[in-house]
Amino acid sequence: MAKSLEVYDAIPESAMVIVAHPDDAEFMVAGTIARWAKAGSRIVYLLVTDGDKGTSDPNVRGEDLAALRRQEQEAASAIVGANAVEFLHYEDGMVIPSLELRKDIARVIRKHKPKAVVCQDPTRYYSGRGYINHPDHRAVAEAALGAIYPAARDRLTFPELLKEGLEPHKVQEVFIGFTEDEDLIVNVSDTIGLKAESLKAHKSQVGDWEPLDMLSEWAKGAAEGQDFSHGETFRYLKLDEL
Ligand SMILES: [Zn+2]
Repeated sequence: MAKSLEVYDAIPESAMVIVAHPDDAEFMVAGTIARWAKAGSRIVYLLVTDGDKGTSDPNVRGEDLAALRRQEQEAASAIVGANAVEFLHYEDGMVIPSLELRKDIARVIRKHKPKAVVCQDPTRYYSGRGYINHPDHRAVAEAALGAIYPAARDRLTFPELLKEGLEPHKVQEVFIGFTEDEDLIVNVSDTIGLKAESLKAHKSQVGDWEPLDMLSEWAKGAAEGQDFSHGETFRYLKLDEL
C-alpha cells in the first residue's frame, strides 16, 4: 500500500545539499534540486569527502581520483543549476560523526545561510536483503543534523566560528533523503532528465551506463497514487518554532 505523502510544492529561497560522496546527491535529490534551481532557489552543495576510494582499478591513485571526482561533482552540480560546491576533503570510507565534522559543517551553513538543508538518513543501516548503507552516509547525516541544531544556530556553540566572523544561522527546513521513513514528496516529472544528466557527469563511476531508465523507475514508484508521474521522497522537518 502506498504511503500517504504530503506534496511539497514550495520553493525554498536557498538550499544546501550535504552528502558524503560525489554522486550521492545525484542519486538522491538532483530532480528536486533542479526543480528548485529553475524556480530561482540559490543552491550550494557540500561534499564531505572527495570520493577517493571509488574505484576497483589497481592503477588509480586515490589523490588523482579525488581531483577527478571533484571536477565531476562540479559538472553534475552545474547541470542542475547549483551556484556553488564546497568540499571538506575528509577521507572516503573513514568518516565518523565527530565534533570536528559537526563544526566544519556548521561553518559552511553559517557562511551560506541556507533556508533549507537536504541530507542523508542517519538511522539507515541496511535495507531489504541486499543493501548495507555506507557508513559515511550515516556519519555525515548525523553530523549534518547536529550542525543544523544546535551548532549553526547557537551563538555560544563553537565560539571560534564567531571569531571567524560567522554569525549564527537558523535553518528552517530539513529534507532527509534515501529514507524508509518518508512523509513528503516533490514532483520531479519535469526534471528527471536533468537528474539523469547530472548523474552521468560522474563518468568515473557510471561509465557509459544510461541511468535514466532506473532513475525513472524509482521516481515513478515513489509517485504511485499521485497526480504526477515522477517524485522524490523525504522525511521532512520544519524548524520554525525553535
Ligand atoms: Zn555515497
